[in-house]
Amino acid sequence: MPDPSSATAGFSTRQVHAGTEWADASPRALPIFLTAGFTFDDFDHAAHHFQTGVGFGYTRTGNPTIDALERKLADLEGGADAVFVASGQAAVSVALLALVGAGDHVVASTHIYEGTRGLLLDNLARLGIETDFVDDVADPAAWRAASRPNTRVFFAESISNARNDILDIAAVAGVADDLGIPLVVDNTFATPYLLRPLQHGAAVVVHSASKFLAGQGAALGGVIIDDGRFDPVRSGALFPHLVAASRSGAPSVAERHGGRARIAYVRESVAPRFGPSPSPFNAFLVAQGVETLSLRVRQQSANALAVARWLARRPEVTSVDYAGLPTHPHHAVARRYLTRGFGSVFQFTLAGGEEAARRLIESVEVFTHMTHLGDVRSLVLHPATTSHAQHSEEARRALGVHPGTLRLSIGIEDVDDLLADLDRGLGLPQSDAAVTAVEVLA
Ligand SMILES: *Cc1c(COP(=O)(O)O)cnc(C)c1O
Repeated sequence: MPDPSSATAGFSTRQVHAGTEWADASPRALPIFLTAGFTFDDFDHAAHHFQTGVGFGYTRTGNPTIDALERKLADLEGGADAVFVASGQAAVSVALLALVGAGDHVVASTHIYEGTRGLLLDNLARLGIETDFVDDVADPAAWRAASRPNTRVFFAESISNARNDILDIAAVAGVADDLGIPLVVDNTFATPYLLRPLQHGAAVVVHSASKFLAGQGAALGGVIIDDGRFDPVRSGALFPHLVAASRSGAPSVAERHGGRARIAYVRESVAPRFGPSPSPFNAFLVAQGVETLSLRVRQQSANALAVARWLARRPEVTSVDYAGLPTHPHHAVARRYLTRGFGSVFQFTLAGGEEAARRLIESVEVFTHMTHLGDVRSLVLHPATTSHAQHSEEARRALGVHPGTLRLSIGIEDVDDLLADLDRGLGLPQSDAAVTAVEVLA
């Protein structure tokens, strides 16, 4: 066969094959392996890859850029292994589908992301998976009371949307452990910089990497991180898909992967089959973001505490749901778990109701009006008419979402500018606003 890049080959052959070898170099930044698949060295290499899963063959089952990000995130959360997927919603879906099937039962916190609530109530329900909800997430007895013999997973958020409830991870994980089932924690709001749920007994952590991990609002992603401590002796009967031989009679996932059976099942079976594969380019963007995670989250948490304190002193504001304030019902739990800061997403309620909320949203200039969080930019949203619009008014009230409630995600800007912007939003003349901001910061 002629050298396909030499002039003896035809133009169409050369446009595909010429110039496809690159110089050996060792980039310091994470290279983006933006390729559908990988070449095999020889005949046996291909067979070995297909038999063992070792190495890289096709990007849906493995990619070096994604692999590097997975190891970084597993390390930061203190986990044994991680699987990166296309979005936070994909991470929640894949984590749950690896644990539950028809006839199984989930116990979840009432105070979770709306997309996750919908997944449980609409989509998993159609697959024969039922969910009961726990309202007082800090009470381990409530979790125990909601569980049944067919309960296979507890699900909650470390810091919740919208009321800023703080999960007592150790207490709830203790109940899950008694039942031989995993506690899955969505740690999106806290990030591993503020809180590492696996250290407190959670078995699995999920994130929307689209938020703080990416940090700049440019890419979606999600991750599932496992503690690697699945116990087939205690829990094998509850999770037969992990301990049964494969369809072809090969050894079970637990026999091949031991304590890492859960995450191996995610990687080998659920993620590649349901197929929410991330782009290696997005994995690169998230990895870039994670390199500055601590700096951003520290600044965001400090800014958020200042903004929450400032709002709490304003006569126009009836309540501020921020766990960093001593008035928050979970402040004591927050102090135990969040020693580096209380996060930067919270809501507050205006006495003037929806009209005052509309006025604030339409007058702020530094805050961006959008549905996203964890961005370097400060963001504002009116939950009652957007994220929580499909609830009844009564259900919204129970979640702490009132007509005058606004959700903030605080960014890394100079805090004086954020306070001046909120002042503008509250409708004070600019001269008075400046005085007020200075007084409160003093
Ligand atoms: C945004 C979010 C999700 C969903 O993540 P996407 O990346 O938007 O799919 C899940 N959980 C929480 C807590 C979130 O904030």
